Amino acid sequence: MSRANDAAHRLGGILGTDRASGDFFETGLYSHDMTALPKLAALSWRTRPDVVVIPRSTEDVKTVLAVARKRNVPVVPRGAGTTMFGASVPTRGGILIDMRSMNKILNVDKDSARIEAEAGCTWLDAMKAAESAKLILPVHSVFAPSSTLGGSLASGMLGFGALKHGGPRDWAVGSEVVLEDGTALTPSDPLPPPQASVLLEGSEGTLGIITKVTLKCLPAPEEVRPLAYSFPTLPDALRSIMAAVNCGADAWHIGFLDEVHFKFQRNLEPEKPERNCEVYVILEGAKDKMAERERAVDSAMTSAAGTKLPNDDAMRSWQSRFDVFRTRRVSGGLVFIPSVVPANKLAEAVAKTRALAAKMKIGVALTGFMAGKDSVCLLPYYLTDESRMTSRLAIGFVPRFYKMLAGLGGHPQGTELLNHYRTKQVAAAPAKRPMAVRTSFEQAGTASPARKIERHTRYLPPFNKVHPGLMAVRLGVKGGMRRLGGRYRYDQPKRTK
Ligand SMILES: Cc1cc2nc3c(=O)[nH]c(=O)nc-3n(C[C@H](O)[C@H](O)[C@H](O)COP(=O)(O)OP(=O)(O)OC[C@H]3O[C@@H](n4cnc5c(N)ncnc54)[C@H](O)[C@@H]3O)c2cc1C
Repeated sequence: MSRANDAAHRLGGILGTDRASGDFFETGLYSHDMTALPKLAALSWRTRPDVVVIPRSTEDVKTVLAVARKRNVPVVPRGAGTTMFGASVPTRGGILIDMRSMNKILNVDKDSARIEAEAGCTWLDAMKAAESAKLILPVHSVFAPSSTLGGSLASGMLGFGALKHGGPRDWAVGSEVVLEDGTALTPSDPLPPPQASVLLEGSEGTLGIITKVTLKCLPAPEEVRPLAYSFPTLPDALRSIMAAVNCGADAWHIGFLDEVHFKFQRNLEPEKPERNCEVYVILEGAKDKMAERERAVDSAMTSAAGTKLPNDDAMRSWQSRFDVFRTRRVSGGLVFIPSVVPANKLAEAVAKTRALAAKMKIGVALTGFMAGKDSVCLLPYYLTDESRMTSRLAIGFVPRFYKMLAGLGGHPQGTELLNHYRTKQVAAAPAKRPMAVRTSFEQAGTASPARKIERHTRYLPPFNKVHPGLMAVRLGVKGGMRRLGGRYRYDQPKRTK
């Protein structure tokens, strides 16, 4: 019996076979996340876990790690799997821990404005729990109905509210984390509470498994006022966006959806009117200051090419903010590329992304939001149909986009598996912090390797290392072939018979 099978067998015996399954179909479901990896990945890594485990408590997590440690089997934690390109899949099989059953809200304390929840709790459930005590979460995920608190902290997520309040790590005032050796760090342990969240940010499950999160909340504002503006194109909107950031209105969130996104959407909903690029500014706070703040934003947005949309429309868009990527239904697949770019390079990044998309004949929509006064979370995406060769080749766009972004001082939102294909320069920024933390943990011999940030493959030496140059060449070839192919896009109305 292999070590992994032995671990699966043992875990089935301890937790029950309904919570530790090595079933072929079940493990297959966990072998990918939101975006399919290129075929090359299957040659390099074993992304199918040997066993999927569903813990219900911190003790269960400790048990899983003990079994894994004894048999030297790798462990990968997973929340909702909404990250891209293999961020939440194994590289060498082993144990995958699905955290979603650890989803309880443990405490809502109105007086100290804190909520404590298990790490598999979704952002939406945490938001509802806060609301019930007249509190709000200062930031929340753009994918709140699915994405988990633990997965977001571990992936270094930036979401709604980042402009005013930063990332979740700034509000996660205590995390309980189980390390590889089975130690559970709780907020009262030697590592001061905020530090545990800060250290784990962006670690992608490589440092430890987050089991509980305490989030600091704010009192619910008297009013939340979404404002929306239409611009002919995204480049027209960019200057106004920066003006709105600096107009003194103290916006909570400023985001944009470009005209290509709305073309995709019309393909899905042809009965709806055409829409151009839209910019959303969300204000929250005291009622009596709202009109003045709204005027400041209006003047920043309409002084150039912007047209204000009715407040009811703005409210409708705001309320449907978690369903923006329903455009995925047009083709059945969506490749979404979360990245960060300095705000003063946004216009250049947009122009270069568009030029690249045109060169590769792919319809790429640009969405994003201000992640602070100086940085932007840029979220380009294209629609894909994996059954079409032309569609699969489009993956060559991703490394080209990141290379361009690195030249502007930007970087990918996370390291993910696909980033191992890229140059050191591209993967360096997001990997820097977890790697530094990891190195310092290693010295004490207590690191939780889970899934290492590595280039090792599933094979024995000398084939156990893949040179990033080789990977880059393969993706480069794909991208080149894409350019030779015909136009591939989903921004035209579907032909009906
Ligand atoms: C349409 C769309 C839009 C998105 N927009 C954004 C965006 O604007 N900004 C942004 O930052 N991200 C964005 N993302 C990426 C992703 O949704 C977020 O990073 C999300 O918060 C991840 O949560 P999850 O529960 O799905 O984590 P998963 O994808 O399951 O896991 C993410 C990483 O964390 C690790 N992990 C999971 N749970 C734990 C745990 N309990 N302890 C330790 N490690 C763990 C996993 O191993 C993995 O490496 C978007 C994704 C989609 C599909």
